[in-house]
This record gives sequence, C-alpha cells and structure tokens, in this order.
Amino acid sequence: MKVIFLGTSYGAPSHGRRQQSLLLETADGSAYLIDAGGGVLDSLVEMNYPLPNIKTIFITHLHGDHMNGLPDILNLCGYFNMNFTVYLSEQRGIDTFTAYDSMQRGGSDNPRVKYKLIKEGCFYDDGTLKLTAYPTAHIEGAGKPSYGFLAEADSKSVYITGDLHPSMKDIPSDFGVLHTDMIITECAHFDARTLYARLAKCNAESAAVIHVMPPSKYADLKTYADDLPYKLHLPDDGDSIEL
Ligand SMILES: [Zn+2]
Ligand SMILES: [Zn+2]
Repeated sequence: MKVIFLGTSYGAPSHGRRQQSLLLETADGSAYLIDAGGGVLDSLVEMNYPLPNIKTIFITHLHGDHMNGLPDILNLCGYFNMNFTVYLSEQRGIDTFTAYDSMQRGGSDNPRVKYKLIKEGCFYDDGTLKLTAYPTAHIEGAGKPSYGFLAEADSKSVYITGDLHPSMKDIPSDFGVLHTDMIITECAHFDARTLYARLAKCNAESAAVIHVMPPSKYADLKTYADDLPYKLHLPDDGDSIEL
C-alpha cells in the first residue's frame, strides 16, 4: 500500500501546501482518497494521476479544510471519466453535496456519484481495502461526529487519526496493542512534545505528521523527534511512502 500526501496543510492553505488530502494506492492499482481539501483535483491533475482509478472518497469530518476540494471533483467527474462513492460523516453533508451538485448541473442528478454514511467500526471492505472508523472528539463540543480511519490493504495497515481533540483522548487505546505500519496524524491542537508522548504509547513502525499549525511547529517536531521511539516522517505535498 502506498500513501501519497496530496495536501499536508492545516485549516488554511500555506506556502507550498494545500489543505488535507491523502491518496491510498493498493498493489492492484485501486486508489482511494481520504479527505479532499481545497485544490486536491489540481494536485492530482498536476501529477497526471489516472483519475478513473479513484473509486471511493472518504471524508473524516465536515470541516471545510477536509472537503473544500470535493465540489471540483463533482463538477468535473464527467470530464475526467470518474465514477465513485463518497463516504461522509453526517447526513447533512450528503444532503448538502447532493443539492450543490444538482444546482451546478441545472437541476439534474449526477449518475456518476453515490453517497454513503460512515459508521463506527468496519464500514468498508471491497476485498482490497478494509476501513474501520474510530470516532474522534474533534467536534464533540458541537455535538457532531468525526472519525479516524484504520486502513488495511496488501498486508499493511495505516491509522489516519483525522483531526483530534486537544487532549488526544480520541487516539484509541487499541493502538497501544494493535500494530500498525504507520500512524498519520496532525499537530494543530497540541504541541510537538505532547504529541510524541502520546504516540510513544502506540505500537507503530512509523508516524507521519501533517496538518501542522502554526507551520513554525515544524521546528519543534524536528528538534524533539528523538522522543518518538519509531521513525518520523514530516511529508511535504507530493511526497509518497510505500508501506
Ligand atoms: Zn482540519
Ligand atoms: Zn477539523
């Protein structure tokens, strides 16, 4: 399984970084988009990515920086010959994107797109990729759901935490025992040392930190990297890691 970091910025785009989007690619060529921040379609086109290979899009939560790129994809899926299912965390997201897409099509439905709700636990398994959703507390104050995903394919696994609660109470204790090849997480809601102290309790081979706010935290993430008992990646847009 290959992870392609399309967008590694935090809430806002920043110099050289677009909002959050990851692409998972499996050995059979299947591709899955995890979050679709602003400019994601531009990133994929710039790298000449075979867009019809993307069959499923998963959005961790309904914050703009994780889904601003979806309208572009809905707009141009016919042009780029894409057919896909979008998994969203809330019905209001499904209703909103369905209404938006209908509006920009002059009132007609889009036969290329299906929508489904994310459910806690294993909610997706197409025989190539299996995805398990772990609820996070990122927007619990608003009473809204958000998720992290354990993605398993090609005998590898990666846990994508999504945005977290400042306490990091929503990194599941499962990951203290359950082995993962990589944890992809954020550093916008806590400092680097607090993040590393929590990650050190996880049974992982490596960690990749994206969604870093403010970007000056990259210096701390590098300075204290030895706090992490496994390999650290600080990916830039366009980087990829083969697990
Ligand atoms: Zn975010
Ligand atoms: Zn968020």
